[in-house]
Amino acid sequence: MDRWEGTKGLVMREPLIFERTRKGRTGVLPAGKERVRPEEILPKDLLRDDIEGFPEVSEMDVIRHFTRLSQWNYGVDTGFYPLGSCTMKYNPKVNEEVARLRGFTHLHPYQPEDTFQGMLRLMAEVEELLAEISGMDAVSLQPAAGAHGELTGMLMIKRYFHDKGEERRKVLIPDTAHGTNPASCAIAGFKAVEVRSGRDGILHKEEVAAAADRDVAALMLTNPNTLGLFEREIKEISEIIHSKGGVVYCDGANLNALMGIAKMGDLGVDIIQFNLHKTFSTPHGGGGPGSGPVGVRAFLEPYLPSPRIRRDGGRFTLDFHRPKSIGRVRTFYGNIPAVVKAYGYIRRMGREGLRRASEMAVLNANYIKERLKGFYHLPYNDSPCMHECVFTDRLQAKHGIKTLDIAKRLIDYGYHPPTIYFPLVVSGAIMVEPTETESKETLDRFIEAMMAIAKEAEEDPERLKKAPHNTKTGRCDEVRAARNPVTRWR
Ligand SMILES: *Cc1c(COP(=O)(O)O)cnc(C)c1O
Repeated sequence: MDRWEGTKGLVMREPLIFERTRKGRTGVLPAGKERVRPEEILPKDLLRDDIEGFPEVSEMDVIRHFTRLSQWNYGVDTGFYPLGSCTMKYNPKVNEEVARLRGFTHLHPYQPEDTFQGMLRLMAEVEELLAEISGMDAVSLQPAAGAHGELTGMLMIKRYFHDKGEERRKVLIPDTAHGTNPASCAIAGFKAVEVRSGRDGILHKEEVAAAADRDVAALMLTNPNTLGLFEREIKEISEIIHSKGGVVYCDGANLNALMGIAKMGDLGVDIIQFNLHKTFSTPHGGGGPGSGPVGVRAFLEPYLPSPRIRRDGGRFTLDFHRPKSIGRVRTFYGNIPAVVKAYGYIRRMGREGLRRASEMAVLNANYIKERLKGFYHLPYNDSPCMHECVFTDRLQAKHGIKTLDIAKRLIDYGYHPPTIYFPLVVSGAIMVEPTETESKETLDRFIEAMMAIAKEAEEDPERLKKAPHNTKTGRCDEVRAARNPVTRWR
């Protein structure tokens, strides 16, 4: 395996810092002291009295401990990260610099409007750019992540029907949906009703027509959907929902496949959320940071969160007088650093650049799909995929190899495993999203690793079942970890 960028070499073992403890060992002491008690030098709020046997270690022990732990990390900046449904692309560092300009970081949200006109202009322009990209009429930057954008959209739909004197209870959601979709519906007080996708992985108008009635507030679909397939009947489906007075919500987390190519507004969508952290240059993962602006067609604009930015000639103001608004969904104006990065990214890429990024994202996914078919079962092989492709473990199953084994083995080859066992409609799913930022060489190496694993499944399945082999920690007992989590050191 010498030619792989794998887990080998100077990766240091590191015990718990508690295991490094030596009675009486300390960091640098104040001059003239041989020993200090923590309460003599630390502020009260930093003292911990609930940790027994607090580690006694030197400064160097501390530095090495945490530096080594930081080297155990894996991210887009260390290697290929084909995690489906997450768009783990490379985020240009210049946008980090831009977001850290003092003019942005030294603002305070309670400043008078007149003193942050530049920031308001930037925010107004991001709203306009996102409206243009999606074909919507108005955008709010407030929601803090994709799921939060979904919830904001659902609360607006609730308010809209309430205003019309209708209490509609249902939201139709395809069986391929991301788990956050039904959750957002439920939190907003709707009942999520599942609609089955067809054998070809997309939603069909007949299924929607059968489920659509006057109790349906909205249809919530993802396009391209979580199988990486374009919802080809979206226009007809939208018409069906509209004919019953319902609203069409699009989960826009997969916008990386469509920027500059298709506008959801042209396809009948009334509300969409954007995941700025996925599509528009904010490094993300492990819970944040995110930003999930919401775009709407004009009839829903009055319900957008408050305040709204208004352009008044060359001046920008904040409009708090919005009687129909659902109110605030977050403190202040949104996750502004992510908005600034999105601005830098969109302006730098331009219309052509965004389009090209989506084209390359789709091309890369299709390249992987085409080269790996035959080695891995493709449940939806009839049409080209969009920005991601889904394989399964069906061909490997006869050797007793499961998706989890394949994912674990990829770690030995130096890759973050793809998304596995999602979407739920595909048994043993392996969902690969390469993104546009990876070179052909990187894709080729990944493909060869996947081929090598397929071969190993036939020739040495027992070894494959024990992967990963090169990591510091082998396979964990995941069931026990989930049932019996130990989250504190004792
Ligand atoms: C990532 C994702 C979400 C959730 O977005 P968060 O920012 O993680 O809340 C929702 N839907 C789809 C399809 C996604 O891929």
